[in-house]
Order: sequence, then structure tokens, then C-alpha cells
Amino acid sequence: MADVVIVGAGVAGLVCAQDLTRAEVSCTVLEASDAVGGRVRTDSVDGFLLDRGFQILLTAYPEVQQRLDIDALGLALFDPGAVIRVRGGFHRVSDPRRFPLRIPETVAAPIGSLADKVRLARLVLDVRRSSVRDLLRRPDTSTAERLQAAGFSAQMIGSFWQPLFAGIQLDPHLEVSSRRFDTILRMLAVGATGVPARGMGAIPAQLAATLPEGVVRLGAMVREVTPAGAVLEGGERVDARVVVVATEGPVAHRLVGAAVADPGSRAAGCCWFATPDPPRRGPVLILDGEASGPVKNVAVMSEVAPSYAPPGRALVAAAVPGADALDPNITGRAREQLARWFGSTTGDWEHLRTDVIPHGQPAQRAPLHPKQAVRLGDGLFVCGDHRDTASLQGAMFSGGRTAIAVQGYLSSP
Ligand SMILES: Cc1cc2nc3c(=O)[nH]c(=O)nc-3n(C[C@H](O)[C@H](O)[C@H](O)COP(=O)(O)OP(=O)(O)OC[C@H]3O[C@@H](n4cnc5c(N)ncnc54)[C@H](O)[C@@H]3O)c2cc1C
Repeated sequence: MADVVIVGAGVAGLVCAQDLTRAEVSCTVLEASDAVGGRVRTDSVDGFLLDRGFQILLTAYPEVQQRLDIDALGLALFDPGAVIRVRGGFHRVSDPRRFPLRIPETVAAPIGSLADKVRLARLVLDVRRSSVRDLLRRPDTSTAERLQAAGFSAQMIGSFWQPLFAGIQLDPHLEVSSRRFDTILRMLAVGATGVPARGMGAIPAQLAATLPEGVVRLGAMVREVTPAGAVLEGGERVDARVVVVATEGPVAHRLVGAAVADPGSRAAGCCWFATPDPPRRGPVLILDGEASGPVKNVAVMSEVAPSYAPPGRALVAAAVPGADALDPNITGRAREQLARWFGSTTGDWEHLRTDVIPHGQPAQRAPLHPKQAVRLGDGLFVCGDHRDTASLQGAMFSGGRTAIAVQGYLSSP
């Protein structure tokens, strides 16, 4: 019998197991799926690397810096800034601090007035100068209200903020908490974004590699938890002194009941296409600034990390955040939209896969309360992004603080 049984081998459960193991607390991690990683996984398909949904690593996340060996991940970086599809053309918008020579191009981009761009520069400066702690204490509204209050025009919100944060927060309507918006904007402003050479799944794989062999049990679907252990689908009992539920929020709610509120869900979809040539060169994120369809951002992944595609082929990820992801005709609609963007060459594109993820992230509406309770009483604990923030940072932070709470519980008389 282990001291602790952890239900779920996503990033939160793995970090919790890692910290407990390092503290010489014995753990068993029960994972329903056939591999670790939860929402962060990568599949190899015909020589292409397909993440499960379009995702990126933000290097400024403090937990990422502390817990991951970023060099070993071989991170391939996106260019800071974005390319915006607007008025039938593509326009580059760059961070003026990092690319002063591109200021004229950014000012000329038809995504809002000059005043909007000055507001953008001021907002970025403001979040750079504030600590995350302070940003999380500001009055909370929706992101849309936050941007309106900052004076941005409807055009700037629709052609820049909406597609950018639709992709990051799976939130095409900018409903997510403004505290969350501010903290993510800060991370984008101070750090880099990229993907590991072997795909996003390399992140949980790196965490899992630090655990002693046999700690993680795959294919172990938990049906019920009690303070004395977990019961698997087949009826097997796994006893422990402590149980940590590290599943997605809605599953935690089902397993634990009212002590963990269902955090709501934001869906995500991604259509993956193999193409003979890249439709656009360079490691850039392309945003839909003209509300032209369900795809809110596109990345030619093989231009970011060549290892994502076999030689001579390119890989396109077309991200569909929000409820559109659940439309059964999503691939057809994405294809039509991208044919308008990139022209007749899309006829040669091979559809590799469409990911549909009903629970991509918790809803995170205002007021956002990060650091929700992880100790539920009687040896029962809960961790995951729904306790903190919907991100790798939030999942890792939550796993770490739960490990501390568990150690406190086990050492108390
Ligand atoms: C498409 C998409 C894009 C994203 N983009 C980003 C991004 O760019 N940057 C970023 O930082 N974050 C991003 N996120 C969010 C980030 O991936 C999550 O916040 C984080 O991975 C959550 O980790 P977790 O450990 O809390 O939960 P999960 O990863 O969901 O882990 C839960 C685990 O529990 C297991 N489980 C569930 N039920 C049971 C059961 N009954 N028995 C046993 N095991 C069970 C699951 O199989 C899973 O492995 C994105 C998410 C998605 C889906």
C-alpha cells in the first residue's frame, strides 16, 4: 500500500507525484488512458507530430522555468508578434521593443487606429511593470469589458484581441476573467512561445521520466474515490492513506461531489493538414482578424519546428477554439475558410486528423479565484488546472502545492 494514490497522470498529477516521491512519500498514480500527459499529448502520424489540439509553451511561466529542462526539450520558438489575416491580406504586427525596425509595418497594419496601437503599447508596458500577484488582485471583469474600458475600438478588439485570446484561452467571445487576460499578456510580453522538438507531449514525458518505475499505472480507470483509496472500473481497490484527485475539473466534480464545483468547460478543436509546400513561410502565428470562419489561428508547425513533418512536407494546424469545435462539419468549414485564405493550393492538402476536445480548459469567468482549496478533508485532496489557472503553469503550480499540503497532512499527529 502506497502512502498516496493520485488519480490522473496529467501535468498536475505528475508534478504532485514528483514532489512527493522526492520527499520520500510513496505514491501510485492511476491513469485511465494509455499514456501520461492528459490534455498535453503528441501522436506520431505518418511521420508528422500531431499535438492533441494546438498548444504552445510559454517560457515565462515560473513553474516552467523551475521544473522543466527547457534545453532538453529542444524548444523551437515562434516569432514574437503575429500575422493578421484582415481585409483579404496578411499583415505583420510585432512587439516594438523587440523589433523596432518593424514599427512602421505594425503601425500600418489595418487592425485599428493609431490610438489603438498606442493603447496596445501602454497596456503591454503596464502588465510588464506589474507583478503577477498584483495583476491577480485587480478588479475582475470579462476580457471584453477590460478591453472596452481601456478604450480599444471594436475593430481592434475584433481583428486582434479576439483571435489572439480565442486561441490562448479557447474563448472566442472574450468572456474569460480579465485577471487571467492580464497575466497571460504579461507572460507573452516578457517571455517566448514555442513547442518542444518532439511535440508538446515531451513535457509530461520529461516529468514522468523522473518518477521511479512502476509508480504510474496506465489503463487504470478510477470509478470511485474514498478517503481510504480508489476503486477501479473492474472493482479492484487501491488503498492508501491519502487520495489526490488530479483529473479534469468536471471529472473531479463527479468523483468527489459538491466539495469540487464543476468549473465549466471551454471546447477546443484542431484540424491538421499535410501540405506539399508551406502556405506561409516562417515561424509565425496567423490570426483570423476578419472573422472569416471557425478557424481563429493557424500555424505552419513545420516552419516552427521542422521535426513536426517528414522531409519535403509541411504541417498546418488550424485551431478552432470554443463551441465551433463541436460542429460535426468542422473540418469542411475549416477547409473552406483556408481555401479563401491561401487559394487553390489547398486542394492538395491532405487531412490528417481533427481533434475535438470538449473539455479543453475550465471556463474561468470573472471573478477568478486562483489558489482554490486543495484539501477536502479526511485524507482527500484535489489538484489540477481548475484549482489555479487553466494552463501548464496552473496545473504544475497546483500539483506542487497539493504535494506540500499532503506532506503536512501525513506528518501531522
Ligand atoms: C487544445 C488545448 C490547448 C491548450 N493550450 C495551452 C497552451 O497553449 N498553453 C498552456 O499553458 N496551456 C494550454 N492548455 C491547457 C493545459 O493543457 C491544461 O491546463 C493542463 O494540461 C491541465 O493539466 P491537468 O493535469 O490539470 O489536467 P489533465 O491534463 O486533464 O489531466 C487529467 C488526467 O486525469 C486522467 N483521468 C481522468 N479521469 C480519470 C479517471 N476516472 N481515472 C483515472 N484517470 C483519469 C486523464 O486521462 C488525464 O490524464 C490547452 C489545453 C488544450 C486542451
